[in-house]
Amino acid sequence: MNGLMMDQPLLISSLLTHAERHHGDQEIVSRRVEGDVHRTTYRELAQRSRRMANALAARGIEMGDRVATLAWNGYRHMELYYAASGSGAVLHTLNPRLHPDQVVWIADHAEDQILFFDLTFLPLIEAIASRVKTIRAFVAMTDRAHMPAHSKVPNLLCYEELMADHSPDFHWPVFDEKAASSLCYTSGTTGNPKGALYSHRSTMLHTYAAALPDALNCSASDAILPVVPMFHVNAWGLPYIACMVGAKLVFPGPWLDGKSLHDLFEAEGVTLSAGVPTVWQGLLTHVESNDLEFSTMRRTIIGGSACPPAMMRAFQDRYQVNVLHAWGMTEMSPLGTACKLKPSHLKLDAEQRIAIQSKQGRAVFGVDMKIVDENGAELPHDGKAAGELMVRGPWIISQYFKGGSPLVNGWFPTGDVSTIDAEGFMQITDRSKDVIKSGGEWIGSIDLENIAMAHPAVAMAACIAARHAKWDERPLLVVTKKPGTELTRDELLAFYDGKIAKWWTPDDVVFVDSIPLGATGKVQKNILRDAFQDHLLV
Ligand code: ADP
Repeated sequence: MNGLMMDQPLLISSLLTHAERHHGDQEIVSRRVEGDVHRTTYRELAQRSRRMANALAARGIEMGDRVATLAWNGYRHMELYYAASGSGAVLHTLNPRLHPDQVVWIADHAEDQILFFDLTFLPLIEAIASRVKTIRAFVAMTDRAHMPAHSKVPNLLCYEELMADHSPDFHWPVFDEKAASSLCYTSGTTGNPKGALYSHRSTMLHTYAAALPDALNCSASDAILPVVPMFHVNAWGLPYIACMVGAKLVFPGPWLDGKSLHDLFEAEGVTLSAGVPTVWQGLLTHVESNDLEFSTMRRTIIGGSACPPAMMRAFQDRYQVNVLHAWGMTEMSPLGTACKLKPSHLKLDAEQRIAIQSKQGRAVFGVDMKIVDENGAELPHDGKAAGELMVRGPWIISQYFKGGSPLVNGWFPTGDVSTIDAEGFMQITDRSKDVIKSGGEWIGSIDLENIAMAHPAVAMAACIAARHAKWDERPLLVVTKKPGTELTRDELLAFYDGKIAKWWTPDDVVFVDSIPLGATGKVQKNILRDAFQDHLLV
């Protein structure tokens, strides 16, 4: 017997309709590429999204067509999130930090029909416009006054003119919630990028779960500034969550340096922010060296790579900004775990709590996880056994776009090596491709990096497997120093004494001027391995 409840598909457009009706006056503030700070409301955003939906229809965009963006975090990008997905098209957020050849490859693979771009990316558009095979029009996300003068880009349109030409009367269509809503490619550090194709249903379920108190904990009282780009897994879902809960949104545009972010946090009363550790490094350096405080920001979500405990201590002890460590993947929409302490942890002392917060956290409802050994046998949740992390759930991919299924017996293999403790807290020790295997035993590079990062003279540290004559592989530490500090190899290696098993201590330290970061702000260990993997052999 079926239940007798309304059968309403879960559609992304309903988020915007809700925000317009119930939080119409709530603000959305954006630092624009044009240089100014722009203010709008959910009411206006909803109207403009409907205008843009009409504009897309007028340009022949149909259900399932891919609408691409190359854009920063801003209100126009948000309008496209809703205009494209809401009208049944698929929003494809391209990552502008990729090499132009990769952007062309991805746009062709996705068969993008139209591409919207921020003016910053005009040179990139000029480099790719004649090469992409399926894009029929390029739209500069600006007004007539700022349109590029003598551009070589064919079929170049102006966003605000498109907007002005169309009416806000548009009824969001109702269709199957399993329809594709947006498309995001992994950065492809190994092989070609792979597309994760989200659906309305998966996005809506992810939004409900991610907003929960023990997950990202968002509400109408928050002013949220997503530093994580809207071209990186939908800014971790924040543009959807903000509509669902009616939070104020503050968009930083292209200005992601410490000073610009801190100024915006203060000017707009930001309470919650989210980004990868490398971004927070710049922010903390700015705040520390100028003796500043955070007057309204109370929480920040850190994920994308492991948050070093030293960074947590700085935020929490020095600035009273609570850190929520979270883990996820493009293939998971992205949220998998969030590290909210349980009541039983509140009686622990500060250091014990940091040790738990340094874990990636417990599964949000909807994500099921397990760890397995090399033969696929399940390992115990005892906080010690480490194996490949496998996940399943309604917002995890079942196959790649135009690609095969990566699933193993219905589970998605994450490529991360982790432990899970008895209370369900998962901790990543490594990505499987970054693991260091010394004499057959695993050494966790994240642990070694976290210790180095706690040294006051270390700005950034990455630990890689270097070839070794006797042990096959040994850990090698690659480090950048903070400006104006002195540090020797022996001093840094001595810093490990007593903090880990002696045999885990890195064999050597290489000091470099900078550590290469990929398109999503993560250390590119493959490049470091290419440069230094024979370092211990010579
Ligand atoms: P890519 O970096 O390939 O674009 P994603 O952005 O989807 O892909 O990154 C997912 C990966 O990032 C995870 O599999 C994991 O290795 C790493 N990651 C994400 N969050 C964390 C975290 N909090 N701690 C450690 N690693 C993390």
